[in-house]
Amino acid sequence: MSFTLAIVGRPNVGKSTLFNRLVGKKLALVDDQPGVTRDLREGEARLGDLRFTVIDTAGLEDATDDSLQGRMRRLTERAVDMADVCLFMIDARAGVTPTDLIFAEILRKRSAHVILAANKGEGSAADAGVIEAYSLGLGEPIRLSAEHGEGMNDLFVQLLPVEEKFAKVTEDNAPVTDVELDEEELEDGELPAVPMPTREKPLQIAVVGRPNAGKSTLINQILGEDKMLTGPEAGITRDAISSRVDWNGVPMRIFDTAGMRKKAKVQEKLEKLSVSDGLRAVKFAEVVIVLLDAAIPFEQQDLRIADLAEREGRAVIVAVNKWDIEDEKQEKLRNLKESFTRLLPQLRGAPLITVSAKTGRGMERLHDAIMRAYDVWNRRVPTAQLNRWLTGMLEQHPPPAPQGKRIKLRYMTQAKSRPPGFVVMCSHPDKIPESYNRYLVNGLREDFDMPGTPIRLFMRGQG
Ligand code: GDP
Ligand code: GDP
Repeated sequence: MSFTLAIVGRPNVGKSTLFNRLVGKKLALVDDQPGVTRDLREGEARLGDLRFTVIDTAGLEDATDDSLQGRMRRLTERAVDMADVCLFMIDARAGVTPTDLIFAEILRKRSAHVILAANKGEGSAADAGVIEAYSLGLGEPIRLSAEHGEGMNDLFVQLLPVEEKFAKVTEDNAPVTDVELDEEELEDGELPAVPMPTREKPLQIAVVGRPNAGKSTLINQILGEDKMLTGPEAGITRDAISSRVDWNGVPMRIFDTAGMRKKAKVQEKLEKLSVSDGLRAVKFAEVVIVLLDAAIPFEQQDLRIADLAEREGRAVIVAVNKWDIEDEKQEKLRNLKESFTRLLPQLRGAPLITVSAKTGRGMERLHDAIMRAYDVWNRRVPTAQLNRWLTGMLEQHPPPAPQGKRIKLRYMTQAKSRPPGFVVMCSHPDKIPESYNRYLVNGLREDFDMPGTPIRLFMRGQG
């Protein structure tokens, strides 16, 4: 199942131009769908490898001035109600107009998810309007040029989580949420076992990194180590974007960003796909291997993709490649570890390992790191253990008391895994300082052995 995007905004900002770009040439034929009147056009959109339905609220130009407001409102509301996500477009050259404000108001009230776009964004004439767009209070605007196809990558990136949300409804590999924990018979400190990957649900891995870091070499090395394939899938299945392998007996699917780029280049006109490639791979993956070139580690692009993987909630491993040509290995490793801690504090405790994709050295360590990261990422902590732990943490270091009123943290449970997410029921959730959250997250990491994995902590008030 895919999602529906409505493009809304006042006349002449460029909605149809974007619609046409997303839908392509066939679009003209699509406007007479059953149930869709002539003033709401619907089409099948493609952006990168996203497929979704797009609705355009065109046709307003025909309205007379008198009826414009009411008609515009009705039409927009209808589109908003039909859509899962709205793209609200303004004209960056014109800046924010009073009519835009009316639209913003409708959207704020009516739409759960709004993406703001400042169109006609090519050239410096749009600079002021793009900045003004922030004043609408709908988040950071995407600077678009529907006519010239600029900013489409940013739109793509903003739509990825939407697609993910809708994919989750149907895909059975969706993260487990709100499942009752089996609390029985576990010793304190003992944690429920993590289910192992199976043939049907292999462990999904992405190898990401800059061009020439050695991604293809690494994947070939892993596939070459596959000595255990039997059954109907004997032989390595390798399509454009992923390879299926049993590595040391563990079923895995490895996403290959180089393959993705080739596929995308043929089909799409997006200019700068390299970041999107990585994004795509990260989205599919459970464990992300960020592969660095030992000669030029922690470049900007490496940091961005590692950060992205963390924000997307994936288990992250940093692997430093081409270790065979390094001398002064001890010294170098110390420096690498220091840079890692300094540049990627959000990945605290994540493994940093050295490998040579070419010679195969370090492959066992890589395998171990993958399995361990997967394990931690899937960790579930029983509620009883969590609450005993919380009591101890509160005694050791009570939460602050703003204006003399102590914040009460009453109860805690793990709401999800993959990655682990915890909910704490408390009074005044908005008053808990970030430093206290960090104290709890770091404590969870230490005490329940969850290094590296992203941990989400949600404070909930009790209503
Ligand atoms: P709609 O009424 O919102 O659907 O707007 P249209 O798509 O019909 O566009 C209105 C006008 O703006 C047309 O003349 C387009 O060619 C022009 N336009 C659309 N997008 C851009 C853009 O990115 N840059 C510039 N300079 N003009 C654009
Ligand atoms: P990709 O663009 O990330 O897929 O990188 P490739 O796998 O194509 O590798 C880029 C270059 O680095 C090639 O010339 C590889 O032979 C070389 N290379 C990859 N891994 C290693 C390694 O572990 N050691 C050495 N010395 N060279 C490597």
